[in-house]
Amino acid sequence: MVDCIFCKIARGEVPAQKVYEDEQTIAFLDIKPQSERHTLVIPKRHFVNMFDVPAEELAKVMVGVKAVVKMYEQEFGMRHVNVVCNSGELAGQEVFHLHVHVIPRWESFA
Ligand code: 5GP
Ligand code: ZN
Repeated sequence: MVDCIFCKIARGEVPAQKVYEDEQTIAFLDIKPQSERHTLVIPKRHFVNMFDVPAEELAKVMVGVKAVVKMYEQEFGMRHVNVVCNSGELAGQEVFHLHVHVIPRWESFA
């Protein structure tokens, strides 16, 4: 979508601190992190949220989520994490391009 900020990030038109990319998904650091390495995983294709994404496309996003979790586990020793997908205004969704929050919970971050 032309005016979608996450589509722009996916197209490389808006800068982001990318931490992972595969054919279908991109992961980048959240601009207002709730914890160190708070990351958003998005499909490159535009979907609004859990309601319109087909199951097989969601599965591809979850492949990206798992890759990020594994990477943070191996690189930073992450052992605790919240994986969250806010869908709909009343659920706290502010950016209407599907995204999964990966919010590490650190005992200490070195
Ligand atoms: P939501 O409340 O929609 O689940 O979360 C949207 C998230 O996107 C928020 O945590 C917010 O900080 C993040 N965000 C919004 N705009 C940008 C942006 O332009 N770049 C990055 N990296 N994160 C953004
Ligand atoms: Zn979009």
